[in-house]
Amino acid sequence: PSAAELVDALTLEVPDFPQPGILFRDLTPVLADGAALRAVTDRFTDVFDGGFDLVAGIEARGFLLAAAAAYAVGAGVLAVRKAGKLPPATLTEHYELEYGSAALEIRQEALQPGTRVLVLDDVLATGGTVEATCALLERAGAVVAGVGVVLELAGLGGRDRLTGRRVEAIRVV
Ligand code: IMP
Repeated sequence: PSAAELVDALTLEVPDFPQPGILFRDLTPVLADGAALRAVTDRFTDVFDGGFDLVAGIEARGFLLAAAAAYAVGAGVLAVRKAGKLPPATLTEHYELEYGSAALEIRQEALQPGTRVLVLDDVLATGGTVEATCALLERAGAVVAGVGVVLELAGLGGRDRLTGRRVEAIRVV
């Protein structure tokens, strides 16, 4: 089976989580399946082959994808963390959620200028999280080589916020 087929077969749909009316896609079983984790990781490294020096994972499931992809090609990882977890000095990017706001951080000296960074996360929904991550990396002087997500929720317009960026979604629903 292809990576997309494995993702499709293994993703769980959880109604009314984390709030009533929201259909949450749980990708935990995709990560827990050896063949699926490898297929997903291989897809990211194939699509962006040779185009990146570092893999950024967005807290928390993005960390797992980033570590696998980075290890596969001998690159390093960068953890893009929720605010308040990293010691100073940090760069912070605030962004709006459907309800409320959030912030992501990296260490200020984490990146050499010009480093080509592949950004990975599990789900692209409204795109706010990936957009903020790209802004953060670019403020730090990095170049966003591309964005990879396991699942894209197409109805939420995330891709429209990432115009001009190369976005690889393994499965689109
Ligand atoms: P966005 O900022 O609206 O694109 O939301 C994306 C972020 O929220 C990612 O970091 C995802 O891990 C998380 N997320 C949003 N919707 C889901 C979902 O249905 N399942 C799992 N994670 C989700």
